[in-house]
Amino acid sequence: MPAERKIVIIGAGPAGLTAALYAARNALGPLVIEGGSPGGQLMTTTEVENYPGFADGVMGPQLVVTMRRQAERFGAELVQADADSLDLSGRPFAVTAGGEAYQAEALIIATGARANLLGLEAESRLMGHGVSVCATCDGAFFRDKAVLVIGGGDSAMEEAHFLTRFAASVTIVHRRDELRASKIMQERVRKNEKIRFLLSHVLVDIVGEPETGVKGAKVRDLKSNEVRDVACEGVFMAIGHTPNTELFRGKLELDAKGYLVVTNGQTATSVEGVFGAGDVLDSRYRQAVTAAGMGCMAALDAQRFLEAQE
Ligand code: FAD
Ligand code: NAP
Repeated sequence: MPAERKIVIIGAGPAGLTAALYAARNALGPLVIEGGSPGGQLMTTTEVENYPGFADGVMGPQLVVTMRRQAERFGAELVQADADSLDLSGRPFAVTAGGEAYQAEALIIATGARANLLGLEAESRLMGHGVSVCATCDGAFFRDKAVLVIGGGDSAMEEAHFLTRFAASVTIVHRRDELRASKIMQERVRKNEKIRFLLSHVLVDIVGEPETGVKGAKVRDLKSNEVRDVACEGVFMAIGHTPNTELFRGKLELDAKGYLVVTNGQTATSVEGVFGAGDVLDSRYRQAVTAAGMGCMAALDAQRFLEAQE
């Protein structure tokens, strides 16, 4: 017989670990299926300066390892495996992970999202060392420095505009002559004297070492095919995000971009007893604190659901 749980949580980033903490403290004995990235996206960064409670900042991995310990202290159990199949046709729900089968009266989906990257070797090597996917998170590290923002959508415009609070200059590098961003965002950015554009250009390399940070970038002019160096100390990737919802396609309602759909302002998904939290349903805020907040909400919603069943 598969092991049966009141609550199974899929995902172990800030959302899943906070849901686990609340469910464990409320004696619901949650099982967390951690997936291939225990700790989630914060494992890939250095200092986090905007998580409340850490006046001097905290290293991303330390923050999530502490969250994990806190959830375990109250009895949450974690297994390091990817959830690879799911049956939501009736309760208890069935989940398999790492060859083991589990059953759950309630399920919390907290599988997060991933920032799209170009696939350059330097992108991952220098992530958190001058390369970033989040201006809100890392902008303040680039005071009086020159930075690049890659992309031509609303996110790129928003990131570029925000970065001018700190950076000496911001150059938007976009692969076409036309921006995808809405007119209003384009206008705001064009009025900003700190921002310039390299249109019909693509990023082909980032120069630097993790120890010393980013020292420059190489861009290709798509019209002349010429590659040239651009001096910069930061590169912000803003070419979209992909939610980790492949497993839920056809089983839970997803929006046009693949994000999990939940009831307005709450965490219930299209299947009763299944709740969502964090970046997997949030293309707007994408912050550790908002993910953690939603994890708390999902655990409380799941608890109320279970109580109503009894
Ligand atoms: P994630 O952190 O993405 O975690 C998802 C979890 O789901 C992972 O454990 C993964 O293994 C698991 N998973 C996925 N698929 C499966 C599956 N099939 N089965 C089982 N498990 C699965 N935010 C801030 O507030 N401040 C910052 O300074 C900051 N810096 C950042 C720096 C970087 C480089 C990045 C990438 C992000 C940063 N963020 C920051 C954003 C923040 O990390 C995210 O908003 C937050 O991690 C989202 O939490 P989450 O729990 O929703 O998802
Ligand atoms: P997006 O709209 O999909 O834009 C992604 C951008 O990255 C596009 O300009 C795209 O170029 C570029 N890009 C994608 N892959 C690339 C590659 N391999 N190489 C080079 N460039 C690449 O994503 P987003 O900007 O994150 O926005 C997502 C959604 O959120 C949108 O609906 C957006 O309107 C919304 N949003 C709204 C706001 C706001 O209103 N305040 C803020 C942020 C986001 P092409 O244009 O050539 O395809």
